[in-house]
Amino acid sequence: MLERLFICTDLDRTLIPNGKQPESPNAREFFKQLVSNNRITLAYVSGRDIMLVEKGIAEYQLPFPNFVIADVGSSIYKFDGHRWLRFESWDQNISRDWQNKNPLDLVPLFSDIKECRLQEIEKQSVHKLSYYVALDTDVEAIITEVRSRLENKQFQSNIIWSIDEQVNVGLMDILPLSANKKYAIEFLMKNQKFQRENTVFSGDSGNDLEVLISPVKSILVGNASLEIKEQVRAAMSKMIFHNSLYIAKGGYLNMNGNYSAGILEGIFHYFPEIDNWL
Ligand SMILES: [Mg+2]
Repeated sequence: MLERLFICTDLDRTLIPNGKQPESPNAREFFKQLVSNNRITLAYVSGRDIMLVEKGIAEYQLPFPNFVIADVGSSIYKFDGHRWLRFESWDQNISRDWQNKNPLDLVPLFSDIKECRLQEIEKQSVHKLSYYVALDTDVEAIITEVRSRLENKQFQSNIIWSIDEQVNVGLMDILPLSANKKYAIEFLMKNQKFQRENTVFSGDSGNDLEVLISPVKSILVGNASLEIKEQVRAAMSKMIFHNSLYIAKGGYLNMNGNYSAGILEGIFHYFPEIDNWL
């Protein structure tokens, strides 16, 4: 029997309806009502920093969470009733991947790669080193070179590549391996004694992918792009576990499956007994 439930959700375009598709009226209110049950623990898992998470909560009248995993998994906070407490043990865990070095300590490793330009200091953070890379170069070769230099020094890392389309420049973020949503969720599950049987995650895009295709019960909201839906389906077909992904399609309580309606649809799919909690 389900006694408690851990709901972890991405914010932008998952719980926060800031995409192109419409939100079902009352869906967010219904979500709020569900998570007000004291058997539910709520965590927001976002690329936003803690300040921007708070801003989003206020702006979209979201329920107040018990935990926030911010900065794409690089930081974890618990609300103690008055303020946010940062889990220092998580920071220490991440720091070990880089032998307790700061991101800027790694800069000399790459200083001779002239295609990589260090981003402004305000774009750097405790667990992230960021570069601009010109798009008219052999980007793949550069990333391979950066990766091999990190490996040679045994800095366990994850390189995230994206493109800033507005100014047409490549963005290369180098992070310690553990600094991502999946590891942060697993850390919190362990810390709060939740198992896969009573944990659920919802997301919509790129940095949610690792969790979506993991054995953690996951929901891809209906408003996610077709590309992501295809990508997730293809990845899941290669896995030995198959019941840990649900793609919202709409119809539940006559809602459209986008954003919080999709989250609710998925939660009721995995945990039909939750009906009795309402
Ligand atoms: Mg999102």
